[in-house]
Amino acid sequence: MRTSQRLAQRGTAESACLVPRRPSCPHVHRHGVWQLQPSLVAVPPAVHGASAKARKPNFATQAISPPAAASADNHEAISGVRGAHWQIHKFGGTCMASADRIRAAAELMVAGVGPDASTCVVVSAMGNHPTSPIKVTDLILNMIKKASRQDAAFLVDLAALQEKHVETAKQLLGQTKELTQFVASLMDDITNLKAMLQAMSIAGMSTEAFSDFVVGHGELWSGRLFALCCRQLGADVAFMDTRDVLVVTPTSDGASVDLDEQLSNRRMDDWFNANGPCKLVVATGFIARSREGTATTLKRNGSDFSATIMGALLRSRHITIWTDVDGVYSADPRKVPEAVCLPSMTYHEAWELSYFGANVLHPRTTLPAMKYHIPITIRNFFNQGAPGTRISDFASDMEVYQGKATIKGFATIDNVTLINVEGTGMVGVPGIASRIFSSVRDAGINVIMISQASSEQSICFAVKGGDGDAARQVLSDRFADSIAAGRVSAIQVIPHCCVLAAVGQGMVARKGVAATMMGALAKANVNIKAIAQGSSEYNITVLIDQVDSERALRAVHSRFYLSDVPIGVGIVGPGLIGGTLITQLREQRQQLKKEFGIDLRLLAVASSNKMLLRETGVDLDNWKQELEEKSVPCDLDKLGNFLATHYIPNRVIVDCTASDAPASKYINWMKEGIHVVTPNKKLGSGSLDQYQAVRRMQREGYIHFFYEGTVGAGLPVMGTLKHLLETGDKIIKIEGILSGTLSYIFNTFGDGRPFSEVVLDAKSKGYTEPDPRDDLNGTDVARKVCILARECGLMLEMDSIPVESLVPEPLRAVASSAEYMARLPDFDGEMDAKLREAESSGECLRYVGVVDAQTGRGSVELRRYPKSHPFAQLQGSDNIISFTTSRYFKQPLIVRGPGAGADVTAAGVFSDLLRLAAYLGAPS
Ligand code: ADP
Ligand code: ASP
Ligand code: MG
Repeated sequence: MRTSQRLAQRGTAESACLVPRRPSCPHVHRHGVWQLQPSLVAVPPAVHGASAKARKPNFATQAISPPAAASADNHEAISGVRGAHWQIHKFGGTCMASADRIRAAAELMVAGVGPDASTCVVVSAMGNHPTSPIKVTDLILNMIKKASRQDAAFLVDLAALQEKHVETAKQLLGQTKELTQFVASLMDDITNLKAMLQAMSIAGMSTEAFSDFVVGHGELWSGRLFALCCRQLGADVAFMDTRDVLVVTPTSDGASVDLDEQLSNRRMDDWFNANGPCKLVVATGFIARSREGTATTLKRNGSDFSATIMGALLRSRHITIWTDVDGVYSADPRKVPEAVCLPSMTYHEAWELSYFGANVLHPRTTLPAMKYHIPITIRNFFNQGAPGTRISDFASDMEVYQGKATIKGFATIDNVTLINVEGTGMVGVPGIASRIFSSVRDAGINVIMISQASSEQSICFAVKGGDGDAARQVLSDRFADSIAAGRVSAIQVIPHCCVLAAVGQGMVARKGVAATMMGALAKANVNIKAIAQGSSEYNITVLIDQVDSERALRAVHSRFYLSDVPIGVGIVGPGLIGGTLITQLREQRQQLKKEFGIDLRLLAVASSNKMLLRETGVDLDNWKQELEEKSVPCDLDKLGNFLATHYIPNRVIVDCTASDAPASKYINWMKEGIHVVTPNKKLGSGSLDQYQAVRRMQREGYIHFFYEGTVGAGLPVMGTLKHLLETGDKIIKIEGILSGTLSYIFNTFGDGRPFSEVVLDAKSKGYTEPDPRDDLNGTDVARKVCILARECGLMLEMDSIPVESLVPEPLRAVASSAEYMARLPDFDGEMDAKLREAESSGECLRYVGVVDAQTGRGSVELRRYPKSHPFAQLQGSDNIISFTTSRYFKQPLIVRGPGAGADVTAAGVFSDLLRLAAYLGAPS
């Protein structure tokens, strides 16, 4: 039976409005010229007034009759219609979102038709557009929901749908007969849909068949618009309502559909018998029919699947899927801005990636193309110069990616629930897994991933978020006996999880891919709840907390994909040290990126009262001005929050202050996955509890806390100590001149000038704090001793470190620094005596910090050293630290050099940043 005849008999509004016009030979259906058949379409009195005599919708079951037209004599000829002269082009919702876009797509298609080239265009429903935010399929589904919960607002949605399509048609078709025809058929549909929605509203429910019938109208309308536009452009075009051709059956879990290829092929023959061997066919995406004849869909995003099905049925040469991105990216570009567009991938890779949530493709899209080896190219309609991603049997770029990214792409399935069935009674009992999964299957629940511990004590699997309770219920019922007998101890339901999948054929037989992925997640402070790797080794999936979803995605992506390790930096305290660090960052940034693959981006700067937060990075040449003009009041919690939620997976706060306030935030920042680098001594010498909490966090959470700048500025003091300890050396004693100021004073004292004059000299050279007592009271040295001691495992508090203050007792309470300086000469005698005593024994005075690991004590004191001792050789304001250890016993290991000043301190901080980058995966 021909389409036109069927239409006339059924009188449906749902089907083709393009029918054969003029039989030119006896084989009408094969050689006719095709155009709109106005006589079939009732024209309403006005665009907005629905036709009173709208035809009845045919949503009910309509059994598919045997393919009468595919008789033996014409089947061969019809088969000849198929072949490599066909090209399939599918236009996604965004490409169909406005009259201009539809016209541009139609022009592209019409231009492509030639003597040896036939085109089948598959269209989605209209998507959203700046001038019309409606996504047609979303709106229809919402409208159905409203009707079935008796919310009369469904009428508003229906009116919006009508308006969007009428407006588009007017702009696209102008005041032509095609417009009249389109609007007439649209109004028929609207009238019918209104009646159906009202019925749903009265019944307070909707069935899947009703809903599938209604939702398919988006594609029917966009398809008709497209076909009419092609016709206006002068093309011979036929419109195919794919419900007349595609026959599908639901998959066992009901989550998708399978093509009934045989039946669909026969229906395709029927269609060509009825419509002839057209060169340009515009087909609806998304919709099909069941074997029983009910209107159905290929599920959300199903138009991609429609396109490859059409490709397979027509044995086409190629399938192009036009969308709004340059191709398939290594991760969803909305979530991972650094994602890269893949030049090519295999069918398997595309399948796995779409299954695991990359909604650039419907999950089953590749299957029909794979069967007939038809390449698919994903291309950007809005950037037609881009070559797109080619999906085929082979990925030509295998070699390119092998070294770099054995993993092609990453995707997440958000909002899943983890079900964990646990019990000692499950060990070695055959059939447990099968009972679990048959129970959930019987409940119609789709299982996304499965993981079983090899001890067999637990089996866990993930289901869609909304299915968690139903899964628990069905398992509790089915395992009631085992639970009562204690063989199954728990059925845990853990909501708010997310599946993160890594996909790539290059993983096959490559070692260490899983380890690298887990390492990257650990470094990003992401907790893994379950792991599964398919035996095909095309994918590794992990189950994580939903809140970690985007951060995890970025972390694994950057680990495998980016040659650069990106680190987002926040600097607190842009004073002398912080400001110098920014200058150093500016000078080194390009070179670090180019030579070492480290991409340091300054995202935030905070002073004591204001802060500058920049999502895309602070301008390093202009940061002072930006901080002045564009800052917000400083709030260290907000600063942490900003960095914690930033898309760059690695974030660090550099505390360049000497205050308690930032130090008290370290633990919270670290909990949020932010690393901390600092020359600030407050945490290391502050409350032991707080210090230990930070160190614990550092050990357990893979979050780093580096503080080289706290002792000896840029000198490698902490690094050396860590290295000695990590390699198993035993520290016996650390002794050092740890203050640049006191180093200068005692290196100079002995030149004949009294002590007070030397202090004045140091002050005038800017070597001291504004009040020199802050140096001479020894507290700063004591802080360094405390830090060194704690590093050696001696958990000292500041008040347990005896400090010999060089501020004479009577001057400690003196209010001003000026008065202190004025009265200091009164005490020169005491110091002079000490110096003379030392010199009489051939020794000199040095103010040192000491950690005695054998007695477990630290101290700060004025000691005497022989003139031959390395401490006696010191010049200027240099620091010197000597480590006496079991290995460096006879000769201590000595670190010596400038130990104060903004330049060297900032350099120490900088080297910590680079160490962090190395820990995070930068090449060494
Ligand atoms: P269409 O309407 O053209 O079918 P979709 O919105 O269904 O478009 O699919 C395209 C979108 O898929 C892109 O805009 C992108 O945000 C999203 N997407 C998710 N994962 C990926 C990925 N790995 N590569 C490319 N796009 C992706
Ligand atoms: N319009 C349908 C949807 O939005 C099918 C598609 O566009 O692929 O799900
Ligand atoms: Mg899509």
